Amino acid sequence: MIFLVAQTLVFAGVLFLVGALIPVQRLIGQLPPGPIRRHWGFMTVLIVVCLVGFVAYAAAFWDRHSTLLDLIVPDVFFLGASFVWMAASLSLQTTMDVMRMSLLEREVVTDPLTGAYNRRYLERRLNEEVLIERRYGRPLSVLMLDIDNFKMINDTYGHQAGDRVLTALSGIVAEALRETDVLARYGGEEFLVIAPQTLIAGATELAERLRRDIEVHPFTFSEGTNRLRQINITISIGVAGLGNGIDSTEKLVRAADAGLYRAKQEGRNRVVCAAVPAGNDKETDGRTAGDDNNPIPISGT
Ligand code: GH3
Ligand code: MG
Ligand code: MG
Repeated sequence: MIFLVAQTLVFAGVLFLVGALIPVQRLIGQLPPGPIRRHWGFMTVLIVVCLVGFVAYAAAFWDRHSTLLDLIVPDVFFLGASFVWMAASLSLQTTMDVMRMSLLEREVVTDPLTGAYNRRYLERRLNEEVLIERRYGRPLSVLMLDIDNFKMINDTYGHQAGDRVLTALSGIVAEALRETDVLARYGGEEFLVIAPQTLIAGATELAERLRRDIEVHPFTFSEGTNRLRQINITISIGVAGLGNGIDSTEKLVRAADAGLYRAKQEGRNRVVCAAVPAGNDKETDGRTAGDDNNPIPISGT
């Protein structure tokens, strides 16, 4: 009888160890290369070594279990193996849950078409950034981008082509930004970039670089079944920064929007550095002398 119990415990332990290898392998498949993945690889080796030990023990002491004391080792084997199985299964479950949650969190703040942040996230993040930078007296700039004559692209090549252009544009802009910058889709074909700790001069340089990059980039999309069409587009950008009367999220966005509006009025494909929040005509961004009540054109064709 004791012999039977001992053999059953060892056999169940072997089953638990083999069972533990499954979640461990799935976990390794989910993890990116790095130290944690390597540790789980080491865990696999440990489990296999234990398995060999179990089998060796069972073979060596096959018929040597006669008293209750002889059950101690098989008992410890069984409990240890079940612990390993449970720890591996729970680790896999926890990892999957955390990954699902972070994916969900990312989806909630992402624009599905372009992959940029959405308007909801933009508003929250911009409020936070304005509070932080104002608190520490640091600069903060924003860029408002709008594709020129985008309606014509939709009308000429179709809505899908328009979507492709929007997605590609978002990718190009995202690539050109610093890791600390934030790109969000503000509206239909308008994007807003938050550039923390960036003076308006730096933000204007960035805007000009983006404008030039887009101007020369060939945007491609398929037209009909096999035909690829290549087009060029231009963007207009309004730039604004905290300081000199621009002290809130609302004023900052309004100022960038004023710059964008002016860029459109002046012929598009240009960067205009805006200064004055509407209804606050006495205040300027202090960037240049001259007509402080108007946005300042920086560039264009
Ligand atoms: P402007 O140079 O003055 O900005 O002219 P515009 O034609 O770009 O501006 P307008 O505001 O007249 O047109 C914007 C167009 O963007 C109209 C709308 O159908 C299109 N649009 C908005 N969202 C999307 C989208 O998700 N996909 C596509 N394909 N088009 C969109
Ligand atoms: Mg437009
Ligand atoms: Mg627009």
